[in-house]
Amino acid sequence: MYMNRSNLEEISRELIEADTVSHAASHPTMQRIGDRLDAAGFRVGYQTWGRPGAEKSNLVAIAGPPEPDGLVLSGHLDVVPFADQPGWSREPLALTFEGDRVFGRGTTDMKVFLAQCIEAMEGLALDQLRRPVALLFTSDEEVGCSGSARLVPVLSELLGETPSPKLCWIGEPTSWHVFHAHKGVVSFSVEVRGHGGHSSVPEAGVSAIAVAAQLIGRIGAEQEALRCSPDPAFAEIFPEAPYTTLNFGTVRGGTALNMIADACRFDVSYRPLPTEEPHALWARLRDRLLNDPVADWGSGRAPVDVIVSAPASAPGLASPLGTPLERALRARLDEHVVGGAPFCTDGGHFALAGIDSIVCGPGDLDQAHQPDESLSRAAFEAGTAHVAAVVERLCIDETPART
Ligand SMILES: [Zn+2]
Repeated sequence: MYMNRSNLEEISRELIEADTVSHAASHPTMQRIGDRLDAAGFRVGYQTWGRPGAEKSNLVAIAGPPEPDGLVLSGHLDVVPFADQPGWSREPLALTFEGDRVFGRGTTDMKVFLAQCIEAMEGLALDQLRRPVALLFTSDEEVGCSGSARLVPVLSELLGETPSPKLCWIGEPTSWHVFHAHKGVVSFSVEVRGHGGHSSVPEAGVSAIAVAAQLIGRIGAEQEALRCSPDPAFAEIFPEAPYTTLNFGTVRGGTALNMIADACRFDVSYRPLPTEEPHALWARLRDRLLNDPVADWGSGRAPVDVIVSAPASAPGLASPLGTPLERALRARLDEHVVGGAPFCTDGGHFALAGIDSIVCGPGDLDQAHQPDESLSRAAFEAGTAHVAAVVERLCIDETPART
């Protein structure tokens, strides 16, 4: 029934050729998607923001009667940068078929899934819908899921008379595995201000780098403590790390070899388990960094300043097991295990609006954000029928079962 591959190719090509790196404009491409869905019979609305030349938007497109128990299909249109990324041997903004792979920025993460949703919706018998299907396509996912954070407060307004669906399918790359949970992500920076001077008279100054090293050591000790007390409730969902993990992303400090560094800054992020209060670890670390004494590296001069920034965060996801969407996806994909995704999605914000998400998509995670990003041709060709089958089961055929 959904064999019109040239249509999927055409939609995928249009999306991949559009430069929607997170700092660029997404709204013109979102409007072309909206025009297609409008022509297919969907009611389409946008939430827009951004500056001239970089207009962004989220898209909400709905079809079907204004009943509860509808289904959301969701994905993000923005992609990570490719311009200064070494390793590209193909044109990033082109859809290229080679052997059993399909290449281009966003093939895996995650424009092809959007194209598969669009093609499936264009082939759907909208007049047979007994429950609504809504497409929520976001921008700015790759920069902290901030597009979905914007969308949630205005979602009911954009849905109009349609009650908010309770279930959402997010097609991030999972190799078609079915994931119901992921960790959140929290980031902050630490700035150390020491006292500069000539390196030959260290007692006259305080090295900000030396102080920062001690603070980094404290955070490292916290990571070790977390690693030693895993949460058994997440042993199967996050088998590689059933605890909150920390990462130092950048460290910058000092001016020259023969100068005492007067400033040092480092960026930290961590991924809290979805049931943890996301900012609790930040507050604990801030107290340790600000209040525990720092070893004196100079002559006992005035203490250095340590500034810990406010946290930026995206929430984790812990959708209930056994939802009709999970059953439909497992049946369709012959999946027996429901696990946890090793990355963050818009689903954490959707959960704040009462929408439980399942993460399941055609791409392989090891291709996401990579040079020469690609997707298997099999996953490319299978997706439209998967989307159509699940939407038909949940919005046309099956008696809804509330969770
Ligand atoms: Zn993604």
